[in-house]
Amino acid sequence: MKKVDCEEVKKGVHEYLHSELHEEELEQVTAHLANCDSCESHYDIEVIFNQVIQRACDEVPAEQLAERVMDRLREIQQHD
Ligand SMILES: [Zn+2]
Repeated sequence: MKKVDCEEVKKGVHEYLHSELHEEELEQVTAHLANCDSCESHYDIEVIFNQVIQRACDEVPAEQLAERVMDRLREIQQHD
């Protein structure tokens, strides 16, 4: 997986909130947020996810999306 830096995450979060990121980009931003203390202090991951879920609930059932995101987060955090 390609590493994204904090600058890319800053830009990415905006698109993230509008659900305009592809799944791969979403994973990269999620992975960075999960592992970067600097970004973690800037962005409340739960708030971001809640907004993503709200935006996306027209397309994907919210529960399903939340589960996917949380599964992904757990996976990422287990790699530490
Ligand atoms: Zn960062």
